[in-house]
Amino acid sequence: MKRIVLATKNEGKIREIRGAFAHLPVEVLSLAELGTFPDAVEDGETFEQNARIKAEFYQQQTHEAVLADDSGLEIAVLGGAPGVHSARFAGGVHASDAANNQKMLAELEKRGVSESPADYRCVLHFCDTDGTVLSAEGRVDGLIRTQAHGSGGFGYDPYFYIGTRTMADMTPEEKGAISHRGKALRALVKKLEDYLK
Ligand code: IMP
Repeated sequence: MKRIVLATKNEGKIREIRGAFAHLPVEVLSLAELGTFPDAVEDGETFEQNARIKAEFYQQQTHEAVLADDSGLEIAVLGGAPGVHSARFAGGVHASDAANNQKMLAELEKRGVSESPADYRCVLHFCDTDGTVLSAEGRVDGLIRTQAHGSGGFGYDPYFYIGTRTMADMTPEEKGAISHRGKALRALVKKLEDYLK
């Protein structure tokens, strides 16, 4: 059976990807199950570049087929920020969700706005041992508002509205059905189904 290593240490993403791949003839492994590896240097300027950097780096490190993802929030009034810096908007390598949200609220306040069109994007990049590459993307449009609501999800979800509900108001299943990552995963699964035939 084909082995695919997930280039992430995020348990939530690992669970979600394992679920989406359950019917595929693949064995899904996390990096942690293979050993200890250095962190990839995510210095790309786009989600596509960072997903590719991570997939290629861990493909070389592990000599296995690797799937990497990169995702983030783009807020229109902030010119697309935090974008590729979403995980570390408040500074450091990986800031807490609370610190990132405070930074976001402060940036909106500086501009005197209480809401802005926004989107979440997710890019998946699969890199096989023979150099074969498959990629997929998902996007969901919504509105960032300074009023938080809901206790589900993670990251910026309590501020990301679709209609009257936030992503944090949704169950994991509801979020997966419409989310950037859910869409990207479904698109990649289709490509993998063909590739693995
Ligand atoms: P990554 O793990 O390098 O892809 O970083 C993604 C960052 O973007 C996360 O740390 C969050 O700050 C943000 N992000 C991505 N997807 C979501 C989501 O579904 N909800 C909330 N925040 C998200």
